[in-house]
Amino acid sequence: MTTIVHIGFGSNIGDRVSNCRTALKYLDDSEKTKILKVSSLYLTEPVGFKEQDWFINGAAEISTNMGPREFLDLLLGTEKKMGRERVIRWGPRIIDLDILFFGDKVIASQSLVVPHTHLHERRFVLEPLAEIAPGKVHPVLGKTVRELLESLPEEGEEVTRYNGDI
Ligand code: AMP
Repeated sequence: MTTIVHIGFGSNIGDRVSNCRTALKYLDDSEKTKILKVSSLYLTEPVGFKEQDWFINGAAEISTNMGPREFLDLLLGTEKKMGRERVIRWGPRIIDLDILFFGDKVIASQSLVVPHTHLHERRFVLEPLAEIAPGKVHPVLGKTVRELLESLPEEGEEVTRYNGDI
C-alpha cells in the first residue's frame, strides 16, 4: 500500500543546505520511497536553546510503501549515517528529520507520535509545508495546513525564505 508522507527537515551545522540535500538524496535512494515535492528552503531562528546558529529548514512530500515504523527507522538511520549526535535537547544538529504526517494516520506510541506533536505550533514547519501541501487536513485538529499557519501568532521565532545569501 502506498502512503503519502510529509516530512520536515533541518540543519544548523556545517554546510546546512548541502546537508539537507544529502538527506533527501538518501531518502530518494531507498527503493520503497519516492520524493514527490520539496519546498523552498527557509532560514529560521532556533526554538528553545538560543545559543546556536540559525537553521535551514524545509519540508518534503514522499510516497512510500513502508509502514510508519520502518519509515521512522529510515529517517533515524539517515540521521545516523550523516553523523548526527544527540547531545543537547533542541541543540545544534547536522540533520533533523521528522515525520509530520503519515497519510491520515494518528499514532501515539512511545517512539512515534503522528501527526508530529509540535507541527501545528511551529512556523518553521508550517511555512514550508504550506507551500507543498496547503490543503492537507490535520487528522486530529481538523484544520488545513494553511489554516494552521494563518492561526499562528505574529510574534515568535523568525522564519524567512532562504535566498542563498548568508
Ligand atoms: P528529535 O531528535 O528531538 O527529533 O527526536 C527524535 C526521536 O523522536 C526519535 O527517536 C523518535 O523515536 C521520536 N519521534 C516521535 N515522534 C516522531 C516523529 N513524528 N518524527 C520523528 N521522530 C519522532
